[in-house]
Amino acid sequence: MQTYDAIVIGNGIAGAALSYELAKAGQSVLLMDDGNPDSGTRYSYGGIGYWAGTTELTTKLFQEGFARHQELSDELGAETQLRELDLLLTVEKGADVDELTRAYGAFNTPPQFISAKEAGEIEPCLDADAIAGAFITRHAQIDPMSLVAAYNQAFRQLGGHHNLSAVTGLVKVGDRITGITTNAQAYPAGMTIVSAGAYSLQLLKSVGVKVPLYFTHAEIVETPKLNFEVRSLIMPATNARFEMESKAGNFDWEQTDSQIMPPILEAGVIQLADKTARIGQISRFYTGYESPVEGEESRKEMVRAIAQKLPELKNVSGTWRHCLVSFTQDGLPLIGPVPSVSGLHLFSGFTGPFALVPPVAQRYAQWIKDSSDPYIDQILVNRFLSE
Ligand SMILES: Cc1cc2nc3c(=O)[nH]c(=O)nc-3n(C[C@H](O)[C@H](O)[C@H](O)COP(=O)(O)OP(=O)(O)OC[C@H]3O[C@@H](n4cnc5c(N)ncnc54)[C@H](O)[C@@H]3O)c2cc1C
Repeated sequence: MQTYDAIVIGNGIAGAALSYELAKAGQSVLLMDDGNPDSGTRYSYGGIGYWAGTTELTTKLFQEGFARHQELSDELGAETQLRELDLLLTVEKGADVDELTRAYGAFNTPPQFISAKEAGEIEPCLDADAIAGAFITRHAQIDPMSLVAAYNQAFRQLGGHHNLSAVTGLVKVGDRITGITTNAQAYPAGMTIVSAGAYSLQLLKSVGVKVPLYFTHAEIVETPKLNFEVRSLIMPATNARFEMESKAGNFDWEQTDSQIMPPILEAGVIQLADKTARIGQISRFYTGYESPVEGEESRKEMVRAIAQKLPELKNVSGTWRHCLVSFTQDGLPLIGPVPSVSGLHLFSGFTGPFALVPPVAQRYAQWIKDSSDPYIDQILVNRFLSE
């Protein structure tokens, strides 16, 4: 039986990009995915916030990410649907605009405040009377599943093996992970890379590894094709979710099926190239893996909230969707060899993966050879764990 240089578990944006970059770097790679349609990648807006760096590290990686996206369609030989659009961060009436301006001032290219009237001219679907104004910036966007498909196609052309099976366990021999198991068979590898989003936690826990990775339950509404155009990506200007995520480490996530913090509704919408739209998003900080809610109430709540800003969406039909989205407390990914267990790597925890994953995957494939990269060195798992 073939022993692969690397097995990558998870074909979301993170695993798809990394498996391709490893194959391109000459490694023999097996990419495993369980085919679960409800993933963060599948329901994402696909936004690339290349303007949103706040440190030398994130500014460099976001800008590199945007440049990398501009070459990916050609390199991978398939269209990723990259486009630029306006991001409108709507400000509620009564919100403290000065405070928000200060907060957005931390970004490398701060979004600018515009009046409600100007926002309505840029996005005719917006009801200017319903908001106090908006922050605006140029943003980029790809179609998430087109990007994954493009990476997968190029990966297979490089000789990569892609297997649609759930990984049921990691094989541990002494203090070394030597491969994976599925219900059908075992696959050996020099390196096993867990890139399974929120489900990475379960896989790591099964071999006694605990990492400071957390997840939210995200809910959206997927609409049929709209008979009008939403030009911009619309999201609220407040960032309560990031604030709550930064406090995740203060809570006990070991409690079973518990709500850690109250849910957040961020009324947003993106229309995709096929004219369908994603309306979001509710985030629940809940420790179980199944959704704690049925969905119909959430669906109505999300449509009601977005229709306050975009009245044409008031009677939109759509399907409630649910997925898990992993995150870390410092907003940076959690990647690299897992200390104390050889042969085991993690590649997860990307809060803004569409900007970060392409350059980080490329750099990490090289880091595996060289064990050094000034940017990768700052986002390794061992910033939280001691050897
Ligand atoms: C509404 C919404 C909007 C978003 N908007 C943006 C945005 O604009 N920009 C941005 O950058 N990010 C955005 N995100 C976040 C982003 O989509 C996720 O963070 C991202 O998809 C994470 O990718 P991933 O590959 O790490 O994990 P996932 O997408 O969760 O992929 C993990 C994969 O692993 C598979 N898997 C799990 N367990 C196993 C197993 N045991 N065996 C085999 N396979 C397994 C899963 O089926 C899945 O395919 C958004 C998320 C949501 C929900």
